[in-house]
This record gives sequence, structure tokens and C-alpha cells, in this order.
Amino acid sequence: RPVHITRALISVSDKTGLIDFARALAARGVELLSTGGTAKALRVAGLTVRDVSEVTGFPEMMDGRVKTLHPVVHGGLLALRDNPEHVAAMKDHDIAPIDLLVVNLYPFEATVAKGAPYDECIENIDIGGPAMIRAASKNHAFVTTVVDVEDYNAVLAELDANDGATTYSFRQKMAQIAYARTAAYDAAVSTWMAKAIEEDTPRRRAFAGTLAQTLRYGENPHQKAAFYLDGSNRPGVATAKQWQGKELSYNNINDTDAAFELVAEFPTEQPACAIIKHANPCGVATGKTLAEAYARAFDCDRTSAFGGIIALNGTLDEATAKEIVGIFTEVVIAPDATEGAKAVFAAKKNLRLLTTGTLPDVKAPITTFRQVSGGFLVQDKDNGIITEHDLKVVTERAPTDQEVRDLLFAWTVAKHVKSNAIIYVKDGATVGVGAGQMSRVDSTRIAARKSQDMADVLGLAEAPVKGSVVASDAFFPFADGLITAAEAGATAVIQPGGSIRDQDVIDAANERGLAMVFTGMRHFRH
Ligand code: 5GP
Repeated sequence: RPVHITRALISVSDKTGLIDFARALAARGVELLSTGGTAKALRVAGLTVRDVSEVTGFPEMMDGRVKTLHPVVHGGLLALRDNPEHVAAMKDHDIAPIDLLVVNLYPFEATVAKGAPYDECIENIDIGGPAMIRAASKNHAFVTTVVDVEDYNAVLAELDANDGATTYSFRQKMAQIAYARTAAYDAAVSTWMAKAIEEDTPRRRAFAGTLAQTLRYGENPHQKAAFYLDGSNRPGVATAKQWQGKELSYNNINDTDAAFELVAEFPTEQPACAIIKHANPCGVATGKTLAEAYARAFDCDRTSAFGGIIALNGTLDEATAKEIVGIFTEVVIAPDATEGAKAVFAAKKNLRLLTTGTLPDVKAPITTFRQVSGGFLVQDKDNGIITEHDLKVVTERAPTDQEVRDLLFAWTVAKHVKSNAIIYVKDGATVGVGAGQMSRVDSTRIAARKSQDMADVLGLAEAPVKGSVVASDAFFPFADGLITAAEAGATAVIQPGGSIRDQDVIDAANERGLAMVFTGMRHFRH
């Protein structure tokens, strides 16, 4: 059922592309009807347009809160044109049908993102816009709804392909897009309000995102995928500036996020680097410079670092850039990059460089969610941070100052490693990472084994795990994991504690002269 477009109501806050689109509609004989600001912009461009206030017989009032909320508008959008009663009502009340609705809403999300005060955010909650969008979309049997500047050309193409009309399937598709927009809009309002009243609990939250980009595919080529922004404007992969390289993939985005969130744990004054593969770090290190931090992170597991994703917690400089281009890397993300560093990367066409301006605040309250069959699991992001003050020494020997520094570093890294996570650390650098194993003792073995492998690669006399400290993201359920770590050469242990066999584990540590601290906090990550 093609519907010929003869009358359009245009009411847009974002006036991008408006004039060209309206002119193209007018050229196709479409009569234009608009609200205040939109009508003004159209007239300035020399277009003929009727004011909605003239049609409704009411002025726009109450600071624009009431503009289009009138039966003449909503009747024109909602009337079923094949229903005699509806047609009669239109005639009785002098309601003309509206065939095309073009609306984009007050910029609520952008107003929140720029940190506007409460009242300004409230004033930017669009009321008439969503009402019209929902009305027109409900009546997609007859009405075409456009809510996105990106779709203006598609509408014109549709009109040209159908002799000035739109097809049912097109209107239905546009209605679906329109409801996604109003749903996301109200969810954004709810999310903002939850924060404003400090009720940002994972309960009773509505979820919203705005489409940032459709992705070539998902985790695998046969999966469709897209990337949505949550409107928080948080520094990170979602808001980063990309300087070079092809479009990020689904896996790139996921891994880049993991990498950047990890280095953000370390203050910029303490240069730090993380190299990520499949969402787990294969090397994390601090150094006197970023170049040194990178080199030390790379030396944790040179084999896995190939094709990895690198995050830095400071400005990427030329020296670090030169180190990085030594092997193939997918993405580098940092708060900033010098011109010299950019010049070094320019020779590597496939390497993506992202900058964010600043590091994200790792303490910011963020809600995370994951899908399960039939639902979503929602929780606060793991923002747990342990300081020296929180550590409880449980062994005869207390850790040395150097061991404490390394234990805390290992603990911070453990938070970012899939469970069961075991991290060996020496002098502020990981020397073995065991990730994602189903048994803790296996993670302990794998991480130590990796250190031995690197000793072979680097031609070292002994594996770096000798004389290291070790972190375990959750308690050792048996002494075997701790014994494995001790035999690999670890001298100190950090773990939550809390197992019914804690005493066995403590005894095993004492027998081997290890120092062990409990954090009382667990860092499962699945
Ligand atoms: P204009 O710039 O044309 O004056 O205003 C356009 C904006 O007004 C659009 O974003 C549209 O969604 C919004 N709008 C249209 N009608 C109403 C209404 O009755 N109440 C409110 N609050 N906003 C409206």
C-alpha cells in the first residue's frame, strides 16, 4: 500500500541537512508544516512553510513545552484513512492528514554529556517530539516517520522509486527505528535521573544506547554486530579519536577497552603499559618511561604479544612508538600521542592509534551487564581497590617493602584477568600470567611455565618467576596451588583468603618461608 506524500510536518532540533531535505521535498510537491525554529530556518532558506501554531490556533507556549500537543496534529498523525469514522472525525474537526513526520528530539543526551545543570537537563526532555514520533509510528500503515538525519536520503530515494509515495515495508522499517529512538531517549532520561539522585543502583535501570557504528561482523564473521554508546562520554575506546588504520572490529573494541581500563589503574606519573590478547593481559609493566614499561610488558610473553592491543597510561612518545612498531600490533590506545610518535606509526598503515585526551576514572560508578538466555545480568563494575593498609599478614614472615609493592601491583592486574587468575610479578612487571583456567592450580602452573618459556626465548639463566610474588584473584581452595607457586620460585603471595582450608595454605606457606597477605576482597572476572 504505497502512500503518496503530500504533507510533511518537520520539527527538528538538529538542523543538519534540513534545508536540502526540505527543498527536495518541496520540489516533489510536498507541503511543509513546521514548529517555530524549524519554520524560521526554512523561511530563511526561501522555502514556503506553514506554522504549526497557525494550524492549531494556539501559540507555542510555556517555553516550548507545548507546541504540537494538539488534536489537529495528533489527529492528523493517528487517523486511519480507511476507517470511515476516522475520516468523518477528520472532516468534522478540520484535521488534515500528515503523511510524513520528520522529528529529531531536543538534545537531551548531549546536554547531560556536557555537564549541564539539573534544570537545563530537565528543559531538554522533549515531550511533543516523542509524542508525535510514537503516534506517527503507530500509524505506519499510513504515515512515514523519520527520526535520524542519516535517513533523509533514504526517504528521497524511496519517494523517487515509488512515484512520490512510500511503501508499507519502508514505513514499517522507519517506525521500528523510531521506537528504538524514543525508547533509548527515555532510558537516557531515567539513567541520568538515577545518577542525579544518587540512586545509580543496578536495580530498576532502563538501558539505552545510541548506535555509534555498525560493525563489519561480531566475534566471528558469521555474527552481525554493532557498537552503541551509553551516553556517559567516558574516556575510552567509545569516545577515542582514531588517527590512522582501518575501522576497529568487534574484538578490537573489546580488547582495547580491557587494555585501557587496566592501565587506567596506574596514575600517569607511574608510566604503565598493558598488552592484551583475547581480553586478557599477556604483559603488564611499569617503568621509568613508557618505552621501558612497554619493553618490560613485552618481555613477559613475547610470543602472545604478537597481534596484541597495547594501552599506555601517558602520552605516547617517539621512543615508545619505535619500540612498539618492532612487531605487529593491532591497536595502541593512550591519552595522547606526540607528533613524533604519530610520524613513526604513519609508516604502519594497519596499526590503529587511538587517543582519548585523558584516562578514565576507575572509581566512577558504572553498571555493567551481560546477556544470558532470556535476560540480562546487571551489576556494578568491579571498582574494588586494595591499599597496603588493607593487607592482613597471615604468615610468620611479613612481606618486604619491595614484595608489598609487587603484591599490590599483581593484585591490580589480577582484577583484569579472567578467572582463575594467577599473576606472577617481579619489580613492577608481570613475569607470568595464568588466565581463564577451570582450576586454580592449572593457572598457577601455566603462568610459571610461561615464565620458563620466556627465559628460554630471552636466553636467561633462570626463569623470571624465581624471586617473584604471586597474586590469586580468589582464595586457594587447597594448598596445591600455593605449593606450585612456591616451587616455581615465588616468595610472597596475595589472595583474598576465606577458604575453609586457609590454615592448610598458611601452613604450606610457612613451611616454605613465604610471606602471605589476605585482602578480604575477591576479584572474579568471567
Ligand atoms: P523548533 O526548533 O522547530 O522550534 O523545535 C523543534 C523541536 O521541538 C524538536 O526537537 C521537536 O521534537 C520539539 N517539539 C515539537 N513539539 C513539541 C512540544 O509540543 N513540546 C516539546 N517539549 N517539544 C516539542
